[in-house]
Amino acid sequence: MLDVAAQHRALRPELDAAIARVIDHGHFINGPEVGELESRVAAYCGVKHGVGVSSGTDALLVALMAIDLRPGDEVITSTYSFFATAGAVARMGAKPVLVDIDPATFNIDPAGVARAVTKRTKAIIPVHLFGQCADMGPILDIAQRHGLQVIEDAAQAIGAEYKDGRRAGSMGAMGCFSFFPSKNLGAMGDAGMVVTNDDALAERLRILRNHGSQPKYHHKLIGGNFRLDTMQAAILLVKLAHLDAWTRKRQENARGYERLFAAAGLDRRGLAAPAAVYRDAGGAHHHIYNQFVIRTPDRDRVQGVLRAKGIGCEVYYPVPFHLQECFAALGFASGTFPEAERAAADSLAIPISPELAPAQQEAVVAALSDALPG
Ligand SMILES: *Cc1c(COP(=O)(O)O)cnc(C)c1O
Repeated sequence: MLDVAAQHRALRPELDAAIARVIDHGHFINGPEVGELESRVAAYCGVKHGVGVSSGTDALLVALMAIDLRPGDEVITSTYSFFATAGAVARMGAKPVLVDIDPATFNIDPAGVARAVTKRTKAIIPVHLFGQCADMGPILDIAQRHGLQVIEDAAQAIGAEYKDGRRAGSMGAMGCFSFFPSKNLGAMGDAGMVVTNDDALAERLRILRNHGSQPKYHHKLIGGNFRLDTMQAAILLVKLAHLDAWTRKRQENARGYERLFAAAGLDRRGLAAPAAVYRDAGGAHHHIYNQFVIRTPDRDRVQGVLRAKGIGCEVYYPVPFHLQECFAALGFASGTFPEAERAAADSLAIPISPELAPAQQEAVVAALSDALPG
């Protein structure tokens, strides 16, 4: 799926120098690279503040702490995402209120969000799944109408743009990013960031990520250790300079798949490629393709054929939140969210990384052609 070694080989001298600088200055906690990365990522997203944190999961958790989410509060989110989205809500003692997806994008269905609002709703967490923004216009309208906070789970979507050109993470009260190695901007370990335009929220986030301490040893809030390591910040600064070029390669690879699928007639044989739904007037794509997810009713067999040929592929995600054992108490039956359940049964992510060579891409398509019926 992803050859991180290939990416690092090309950057090795720059990475070595950045790591050596951190070893030499020795400010491993809250060193100068952390602040620099925060400014750069904030500017990249078009927002005022970035607050580096220990992971994408902790970005969500600390964002929910910053809005003072309480036990009994409800947070509306998609049933189809990585576990951390709903896990962060439940860990706060609050209730994840789940909503089905729009099958065209895999993202939360705004009509479902509108129906899910109650007196106890405190926030909405739209997820920009696979690198494509959720339909934020109607979601922000609902939030405004009911006085709700919007926290974007932009873990998979750094640099993605909504149809009006706003970047992932910049539209809600806060945007949460992950720099897990498989994300488009990946650290060499765990790392994350919360971005916001709100000065007061930025201040709270900075205090909360450091045990709620301000000044030192005086705790006005109960926070935790959610800090971003200086070493990871230094590595991410090197990589951020290459992010746009990598994104262009991912987008070219996506166009490549679409061409190859059409040439092989795979679209007529039960394979659906992801639609890039939001385009600007010029037709530019705003999808950053953290994943390229195809759909086929014969998914398990197709996956088996690809695996047997040594082609990386992965199911994101085989079980929606409402059917997870740990959320059984929420009381959802199978069939409650049919679009998410269908996606869990028929979607398959295939390699899309910037390092993917044309011959490798052709091999993926040849394997799919062998696997599909007809
Ligand atoms: C990766 C991811 C997270 C969690 O990020 P970590 O850095 O792995 O903790 C949260 N939400 C989504 C949608 C993700 O893809």
